[in-house]
Formats: sequence, C-alpha cells, structure tokens
Amino acid sequence: MSIAAGYLPFLTSRKPDTMQFSDFRNLCVELQCRGVNIDTAYPGRTGGAGPAEGQTVIIEGRYLNIPTNSWYVPMSPYRIENHKSRWRLYKKKDCICDVVFPRKPDFYNQVAPSGLSLQQVALLHGSDCFASTIYQDCLYWNTPLQCRFCGIGLSLENKTTILLKDPDDLAFAAAQAQQHDAARHVTLTAGAWPDEARGLDHLCACVREIKKRTAMPVHAQIHPPRSMWAIDVLKSAGADTLGLHIEVCDTELLADMVPGKAALGLQAYTAAWEHAVAVFGINQVSSFLLAGLGETLQQFSTMADTIARLGVFPYVLPLRPIPGSLLADSKPPEPAYMTDVYAQTAGILKKHKLASKNSKAGCVRCGACSCLSLFEDETIL
Ligand code: SF4
Repeated sequence: MSIAAGYLPFLTSRKPDTMQFSDFRNLCVELQCRGVNIDTAYPGRTGGAGPAEGQTVIIEGRYLNIPTNSWYVPMSPYRIENHKSRWRLYKKKDCICDVVFPRKPDFYNQVAPSGLSLQQVALLHGSDCFASTIYQDCLYWNTPLQCRFCGIGLSLENKTTILLKDPDDLAFAAAQAQQHDAARHVTLTAGAWPDEARGLDHLCACVREIKKRTAMPVHAQIHPPRSMWAIDVLKSAGADTLGLHIEVCDTELLADMVPGKAALGLQAYTAAWEHAVAVFGINQVSSFLLAGLGETLQQFSTMADTIARLGVFPYVLPLRPIPGSLLADSKPPEPAYMTDVYAQTAGILKKHKLASKNSKAGCVRCGACSCLSLFEDETIL
C-alpha cells in the first residue's frame, strides 16, 4: 500500500458538504473494495504489475487510496473520466461527484545527497504523511514463511526503489517534504531484518536523523523483537508511535496467511503490544487488521477487542490483492462485510476510549487506506 499528496490532518473524517454523510461513507467503502477505472488520459496512472496497485484521489476533501490496477478493477462499476480539465467519478452512467488528484509533490523532483532521486527515497502518502520503506526486503520473502498478501520485494524487482534507505538521504527528503509539500508526520516501515540488532540500529539512525532536521512526529513499524528493550531504544531514538502488525484475526488462519508471524506466535505480539503501550502510551501503538482473509465477523471483532483492550489501536484494512503477490488472484471483501467490520470496530474503539484523531503519527493518523475514521465520527463522544 502506498501513495501521495498534501493537506490538513484529520480533514479525512469531516462530513462532506455536497453529499449525505451515509452516502459518502458507503461510496468510500465501495471504492476501496471494488476499485476504480481511471480514464487513460490521467498522466499519473501507473499500469501493470507491482505493489503500486492503487491511486490516491481526493473526494469531498477526503484523501482515499483506491485500487486501480488489480484484476477485479475492470469489473468495478466505478470509473473516473476527464471532462474539460476536471475529473468526474461515475457509477455506471451516473455522475456522482468531482474528484481531484493530488498534485505531484515538489520534493520528488529533488536529489538526495547521495545522488538518488528523492522519489526513490520516500513518498508522500495520504494528505500529509512522509513515508518510506527503509529496508525493502524481508527475511521471509520468497521463502515458505512469506506473508501471502505481501508485495515488499516487488518494488525492488521493478527497480522503483532501492534496498536500504540512507538516514541522511531520508532526513534530507523529510525536511524538503515538510518545507515544500506540507508533510506533517512520518511513517517508516521495513520487512523483517535478517539481523535484528542491525535492523534496529538502522531504524534508530533514520528516526534520529529525521528528528534532528524536522519537527515531524515519527511512526515506526517493527516485528515483535526478541528483547523488549528494543522498544525502549526506539522510543529513546525519538519515535512517537509504533506499529506491530499481527494482520490476521483468526488464530487458525495465522499459519496459512502469515506463517512467519505464526512461528513467532500470538504470545510474542501480546508481549510486545503490552510493553509498547507501557512505553509509547495508549492509542500510540497500532496493529493492522486485514478483513477478508477468511475470518468471520465474530473472529474479527474478538481480535479487535483483544488488542484494543490493551490500548493498541486496531487499524482496519480491506484485503487488497496485490498483483504479483501470492494472493494476487483473491477477491477483496464485499462492501457490506467491510461496513459491518468498520461499524463493530468503531464501537470497540469507543468502548476502549481509542480514536484515530489522537494518534500522533503513521497510518492511523493518515487514514487514507481505511474508512474506519468515517465510522468513528458517529461513535466518539
Ligand atoms: S494509511 Fe499508511 S500505507 Fe496507507 S497511505 Fe496512509 S501512511 Fe500510507
């Protein structure tokens, strides 16, 4: 999941002026499950395989990342067409609303101290999130332990990025993005490192350099470490929020979908979540939960409640089969199922006093890949 743009934080959950809120929310859920066909006149469209299977669009002021390049998209009733320099969203023959594509960030045109194009160093995600995969590989990639929905190695194979991001390059790019493109927070992710200690050192170096040159809060995503001390080290380096992603809600599906994570065991995640909340605080630790992997709604809600009870934010995402991944031929979940998942999770968030608007940095704050915040609006006091 990736993408682009520049705006105010939390505008993502505002009520649109030109459409009933319930219609707008249903539209967003449908678009993320069905995808959208884009007029070939759009110059930024990326075709073919690879993890760039989506596009960010702005609808009624909300930044939404939508599938555009997966096998199921041509079956979607939605398409975006160009009309006299404006873009319009259609459902079959009905025009629904105007949409806007985010402008290309200025920092993409600049060059890092190492000579790399900054677009190869990081991207602007959602409205204002500076995001980078600092290690574009994974211990489990191309092994039997690979997560079945993952596409981390594909960008490297397509040569759209590099294996390891240099902390200096990253900090330079972050400062440019903050200055020229209104970036307001940072997401740093990586696959599982073959050498955990080296990975932690590199991640901490990236966080420290970014914090030296910008005032942006930083979100780091890691796997449960062997020693909980690693979490304290990351906090000391300057990280503001932490992602520890179990992703799968049904414990029986874990071994099938995420065998590497299953080998670590749910207990490793629970221990890491508990320690991370003690270090980073309630609402500042999150876990992706993917819907549509074969779990039931009850299983999804049970997992969401289990982690929310610990103070961990369950960040809900529909499965998006990535071309080239092991689940490339799978179907995304039905919009009706996603609506139930979002509504139940929003109730769970309210029960445990968690809210996406209280997250300091990262995917929960960005929200472009999920419609969860649209459901929180009705449940947050
Ligand atoms: S939610 Fe996360 S992955 Fe999605 S666009 Fe935002 S920062 Fe990127």
